[in-house]
Amino acid sequence: MTVVGLGIEGIDLVRFLAGRGARVTVSDVRPAEALRNALVTIADSEATLSLGANRAEDCATADYVFVSQGVPQQLPALAAARAAGVPVSSAAQLFLELCPAPVAAVTGSSGKSTTAALVGAMLEAAGADYVLGGNIGVGLLGLLERIGPRTRVMLELSHTQLETVSRSPQLACVTNVTPNHLDRYTWEAYVALKRRVFAFQQADDTVIFNADDTVAAAFAREAPGHVTYTARQQALPGDGVTLSGDVVVRREHGREHPVLPRAEIRLRGDHNVDNVLSAVAIASRLGVDDRALASAVRAFAGIPHRLEPVAAVSGVQYVNDSIATTPERTLAGMRAFAEPLVLLLGGRHKELPLAVLATEAAARCRAVVAFGEAGELFAAAVREAVTAAGCGATVEQVADVEGAVAAAARLARAGDVVLFAPAGTSFDAYANFEQRGAAFRTAVARLGSAT
Ligand code: ADP
Repeated sequence: MTVVGLGIEGIDLVRFLAGRGARVTVSDVRPAEALRNALVTIADSEATLSLGANRAEDCATADYVFVSQGVPQQLPALAAARAAGVPVSSAAQLFLELCPAPVAAVTGSSGKSTTAALVGAMLEAAGADYVLGGNIGVGLLGLLERIGPRTRVMLELSHTQLETVSRSPQLACVTNVTPNHLDRYTWEAYVALKRRVFAFQQADDTVIFNADDTVAAAFAREAPGHVTYTARQQALPGDGVTLSGDVVVRREHGREHPVLPRAEIRLRGDHNVDNVLSAVAIASRLGVDDRALASAVRAFAGIPHRLEPVAAVSGVQYVNDSIATTPERTLAGMRAFAEPLVLLLGGRHKELPLAVLATEAAARCRAVVAFGEAGELFAAAVREAVTAAGCGATVEQVADVEGAVAAAARLARAGDVVLFAPAGTSFDAYANFEQRGAAFRTAVARLGSAT
């Protein structure tokens, strides 16, 4: 069996397959030096290493090929496997095939991790036997040994994981489908990937759609199983979870059950109300009662790098939303605050439309500081919007995150929020958004100690 790509999923696959006696070949384009840490984790697995290139023969002559998420499906080595009739699978597909319990999963362009973490907190509050899997640095297959037939299984599934599955979870939830990853997929192809979370469901499976999201709501017509909804802005089209006045309610067989007042949600922003609605819809289907749902939401203060309060310095709050790697996400973050904003934008641009963000940032922010590889592009877009409106934010451009924090400290006044929600990816200067968020925290901590 050949595993293509030695990241978190690849390591998980190698350990799992080799642990069950398979002869495993690892194919990765990176050379051994670049994979040193990963190789340590599979040292006891006796895998054959084929590094420095994805060789067609490693795939075409295997019994099975397992591909890590993020490896392009068009890779010539994978095409060679398919041409030779070799089945191509993935960790997510294998997990769905082997999991002895029903699986619940959330997907969407935004809100996956928050929703999944909320569901985990709800299952915890209910004292359930559960596992939570997703983009949290832990492979799915390693979880299998902890799962019995009655274990509640909650997953976050990304579009790249969905790309490789031909099964859907028994309970699926789609938070939203908005432009993202358009550097790699056409919009139609991206929407089609999200569809896979429910497309292979059976008649007695259930999918929860966000009725406020046009794409997700339109999916309802195609679902093979039961459909329920979440809705904050629209009237709930059937059973599901919504706001009734200022109370989160569950509607079941047409009857409403109050869960908790919206005011008790500690997470900021309407988008997080949406995530709470999704999590309530999922967890209640997994058997969590309303009291446990409510107590988990009340206690949930969020996950790092998602609108994470970092510090208050000289009356200015600094907020780390490093995971905001698209204009949509930055907009969601901005809309979570009523205070005057100093917005830090930058990183690597993903070819996504900037006009809405630029217009809203120009009108809404005291200042916008642009940094990194796409700094000039972001600064120009916001300047243009300021010119078009005839007034608005002060725009500055600096080199990096440290420079952006220093400029923000100069531009912000007491009572303002400095929002680090870059709208671009971190890959111009960091390995991932966590490292970029950590750099922001460190720069803010320096400010604090300097004052
Ligand atoms: P994901 O796991 O899909 O990447 P997260 O829950 O980690 O999503 O949230 C990432 C960022 O996306 C948040 O910091 C926020 O800016 C934005 N976001 C989160 N939930 C939503 C939502 N329901 N709708 C729109 N934007 C959201």
